[in-house]
Amino acid sequence: MAPSSTPAGPAARPRKARGEGQWALGHREPLNPNERMKKDDNPLHVRARIENIYAKGGFASIDPQDLRGRFRWWGLYTQRKAGIDGGRTAVLEPHELEDEYFMLRVRVDGGALSLAQLRTIAGISQEFGRDSADITDRQNIQLHWIRVEDVPEIWRRLEAVGLQTTEACGDCPRVVLGSPVAGIARDEVVDGTPAIDEILKRYIGDERYSNLPRKFKSQISWLADGPYETNDISFVGVVHPQHGPGFDLWVGGGLSTNPRLAERLGVWVPLEEIPDVWEGVVGIFRDYGYRRLRNRARLKFLLADWGVAKFREILEKEYLGRALIDGPPPELPAKPIDHIGVHKQNDGLNYIGAAPVVGRTSGTQLAKLADVVEEHGSDRVRLTAYQKLLVLDISDDKVESAIAKLRAIGLEARPSSWRRGTMACTGIEYCKLAIVETKARGEELVARLEERLADFDADISIHINGCPNACARTQVADIGLKGQLVMNAHGEQVEGFQVHLGGGLGMAQGQTSGFGRKLRGLKATAEELPGYVEKLARNYLGDRESSQETFA
Ligand code: SF4
Repeated sequence: MAPSSTPAGPAARPRKARGEGQWALGHREPLNPNERMKKDDNPLHVRARIENIYAKGGFASIDPQDLRGRFRWWGLYTQRKAGIDGGRTAVLEPHELEDEYFMLRVRVDGGALSLAQLRTIAGISQEFGRDSADITDRQNIQLHWIRVEDVPEIWRRLEAVGLQTTEACGDCPRVVLGSPVAGIARDEVVDGTPAIDEILKRYIGDERYSNLPRKFKSQISWLADGPYETNDISFVGVVHPQHGPGFDLWVGGGLSTNPRLAERLGVWVPLEEIPDVWEGVVGIFRDYGYRRLRNRARLKFLLADWGVAKFREILEKEYLGRALIDGPPPELPAKPIDHIGVHKQNDGLNYIGAAPVVGRTSGTQLAKLADVVEEHGSDRVRLTAYQKLLVLDISDDKVESAIAKLRAIGLEARPSSWRRGTMACTGIEYCKLAIVETKARGEELVARLEERLADFDADISIHINGCPNACARTQVADIGLKGQLVMNAHGEQVEGFQVHLGGGLGMAQGQTSGFGRKLRGLKATAEELPGYVEKLARNYLGDRESSQETFA
């Protein structure tokens, strides 16, 4: 059949294609309020106003454009007002949902903390944050109950020990993930930390890269021991047959409502060239990224439209001015590596990976942790992208004492599978986008399962999310839980979860990582959740043929 003819009349005039707001194609006029806010004044400039005006004038003195826009570039979000149920999240105006207190995200690039840094965060939490502190699944520490009046003093203390909140949130390059065992792992060939440090030095807080279409997530790690396939950019260690050790480049991953795993560009990058290549990819995102609609503004959408070959060509020709070296794929682990337990370092000392429950800790606990670390001759702690932590440099004779002391303060180096594999996002306690409670529910779930299935011996991951945004990586868990309102048996709307089953990351070569299947109609109310997970686990135990068989 022939294509339909063009209709006659004035309405037939060809319509100008709507652009996606890409700067490189000449679309420099903001297409939405968020883009307008960034263009009107670079968000990094808000720091001076916080220090000189808002900290003195208090919450009421804050310009709304700064409050709900630019503050994020300095790690600050208003937190959710207590007592507002999830049913009202989408209905209320932002100012009706928010409190006068802030969440403050401290970026911990590479997850590495010294004792002085740990003590500083603990002190800030106790003095200014009502003792709140969560380890996030991006190796950050998140504090709550922060008042704007206290922010300059908090910055002063953080910066005195080399920490910062610069670009911890906002449409900019966020914390750079690294291996929690960088520099000490026995199977690491090249430590990626110098590249992380160089990126921080050159580009974080740099106005050239502080107005991106949306957030930009990075990871640089020899070992594939983080969520490398869910980042905008990841460098994973690989040995090239001719050129030796270097890093394999992945781009365009992201979860949320249109999940996509990152793809390899098929190039080999030596350690010293990582910052330049990273800058090139951020440059592509800044210039070609879609800015019309925020839900299409992540790098993954551009990659999906361009494909890998075009992306690589633009990177090489327009941003680097040279060809990159073709590279082989890295060897990937058979299952995610969380570093829990006791492991030997490359210098003969040990590191101990320990689990709080769903990343929840406190200033008091972090201060006690610092004491345990020091008492056992160490000065270093690392955070993981699984909401856990590592204590480094423990000699053989001190391992058992360290484990006992960690346990005494609520950090378990020999956790149950449930505690080990469960993560939870911030949820309704503080997050304005949340529909359901997550942290307390996660703690309750772990406790119930430890009680009822104490002998469960398989690796299992349970990721609890308070809304579809998937901050705790809903789609890549054995059991991914997406918070939403569901009907209970009495026909009432209550908090619950849509269940995704069988997702995973970090699969061995030859297999593929993948998203959990969203089972249509499979929903559980929050009340039913422990029983539901227990049933799944019992079915798995009943059906598996050997203890080696994975849950997924
Ligand atoms: Fe908030 Fe939703 Fe992210 Fe959870 S997943 S922290 S509820 S935005």
